[in-house]
Amino acid sequence: MTTCIALIVAAGSGSRFGGSLPKQYCPLAGQTILRRSVLAFLNHPHITGVRVVINPAHRELYDAAVGDLGLPEPVAGGAQRQESVLLGLETLAKDGAPDLVMIHDGARPLVDAATITAVRNALDKSKGAIAAKRVVDTLKKGDGDQIVTTVDRNNLWQAYTPQSFHFAEILKAHRDAAGVNSLTDDASVFEKAGLPVTLVPSNPDNMKITNPEDLDRAARALGQNYGDIRTGTGFDVHRLVPGVEIILCGVKIPHAFRCEGHSDADVALHALVDALLGAMGAGDIGTYFPPSDPQWKGMDSAHFVRHAVKMVSERGGIISNVDLTLICEAPRIGPHREAMVKRLAELLEIDPARVNVKGKTSEKLGFTGRSEGIAAQAVATIRFQG
Ligand code: MG
Repeated sequence: MTTCIALIVAAGSGSRFGGSLPKQYCPLAGQTILRRSVLAFLNHPHITGVRVVINPAHRELYDAAVGDLGLPEPVAGGAQRQESVLLGLETLAKDGAPDLVMIHDGARPLVDAATITAVRNALDKSKGAIAAKRVVDTLKKGDGDQIVTTVDRNNLWQAYTPQSFHFAEILKAHRDAAGVNSLTDDASVFEKAGLPVTLVPSNPDNMKITNPEDLDRAARALGQNYGDIRTGTGFDVHRLVPGVEIILCGVKIPHAFRCEGHSDADVALHALVDALLGAMGAGDIGTYFPPSDPQWKGMDSAHFVRHAVKMVSERGGIISNVDLTLICEAPRIGPHREAMVKRLAELLEIDPARVNVKGKTSEKLGFTGRSEGIAAQAVATIRFQG
């Protein structure tokens, strides 16, 4: 049997949404993007094995995403995509070179089985073949925002992946092109070696997930309608005691008072966790992290948020938006709002445009008005497949 290994390139460090999570490890309809990309090949009858190239710094994320699939040890990638692919090919060569290789972007989770079959079958007649999409829009060449000319779109294609090759030829072409690093796909490496590449129409949904909007588009393309919309509210209060800094929404602010509490006492994150759990019908923060349990003493409340986010993902949900109100006379929230939104978006793995934070005083009335404590309110909306 002809051996054909799928080499999934997932070494990029590009994170979406201003967060710290690289996009290939972000969830899409309850599964990480990388897992979906891997499964597309792992379950395909023409594919004899799957190998993933990763950034070694992402090892834990990799294990969490696909560690249960029985894949061979992932390959440590390089700084550039081209370098990562070469490292992947060299590893395949060492482990008994396959006849064919299909190189695929880890951030293209929606490649379908028919496209994989078509790209594979093209190799019966050609040394190289790629999935691609014919350009249908009129193309303009611009100088700044001014059109210079209209480009003839006849015979123009957008290059997608998978890109498949006879293994010995692509390995040699990549070795010869090592260090060039301006070649943005493997077909370019093959072309540079003077070798022919066949264009194969891709399934149209086989997009590369680059921007937050792509994730929404991909979720729609997956046929998920997420019509089951659920909302939860959260409320929390912490007493203020003398201190040097206060932690709100995961942001440390120099202040003469701090919130008193068992964990790091981030009143905003506690309200947020309750809102998320509320939307899931899953109790409240004390259900999972009882204050009586010494292991949560001094704990960064980000841990509680991440736990709730994981629960959302496990239930196949998508966080649509959150809105938080902090009720206090001081500190003023405005100057820290941007940092708070950024941190919340990072913890929630969503676009900052889906996060709102605001501060309110209570006109010096009540316990918040007397600065005896801070109150926080949160609302979270989660969409589930309806
Ligand atoms: Mg609390």
